[in-house]
Amino acid sequence: MKPLILIVEDEPGIADTLQYALRTEGFEPAWCATGEAALAWLAQAVPALVILDVGLPDVNGFDLFKRLRERADVPVVFLTARGDEIDRVVGLELGADDYVAKPFSPRELVARVRSVLRRSARPAAAGATDATPTRVFEVDDDRRTVRFYGRVLDLSRYEFGLLRALARRPGHVFTRDVLLGLVWGDATESLDRTVDAHVKTVRAKLKVVAPTLEPIRTHRGVGYALAEDLPAALPSS
Ligand code: CA
Repeated sequence: MKPLILIVEDEPGIADTLQYALRTEGFEPAWCATGEAALAWLAQAVPALVILDVGLPDVNGFDLFKRLRERADVPVVFLTARGDEIDRVVGLELGADDYVAKPFSPRELVARVRSVLRRSARPAAAGATDATPTRVFEVDDDRRTVRFYGRVLDLSRYEFGLLRALARRPGHVFTRDVLLGLVWGDATESLDRTVDAHVKTVRAKLKVVAPTLEPIRTHRGVGYALAEDLPAALPSS
């Protein structure tokens, strides 16, 4: 069965290009040109993923995203046209799975769609051939816990926030400034070394579970990223 991808985009040219690219790559695209149409469509079907344009004519893409998330836990990739929109997607921690800035190549977008589907590995999104998919990190926002290879980590408030931010986008390099904004917010006294100190304690806790792995990678002069190449199962040490 082909994964169903809903495109919410008011520009027919972009929607056509996307539908063609997705169809070519083995997906089943559907297209809605407005937020209202998308909500009506979503009342009838559950897609594997939604590609959501931030700039829609009738409803703000961010508001639509919140309403969508109230209905179903579907991965979302935002399409953004402006830098300040990207800041909102990343900075407000909306919980989107990824974003692509316009103009983009259809090939790039399809690659992101694949990567998000692989990462989220939700039953609706996984192909029939996939056995039970393993998630290395499982973040539970309600209980404010993170599981690492199935083990619940004992994390402080800021350690949880840090790991949650990194786990949202494996491979994405977060600068210390961005992490400070995401995790510490407006808390005073927070400095770059606050981030470093918390990375250190989180690493120590991950080491207890997986002594041979380095899940949080340092990008010198830039910041930190969660490794994308972690084994699906805990290696025996
Ligand atoms: Ca638009």
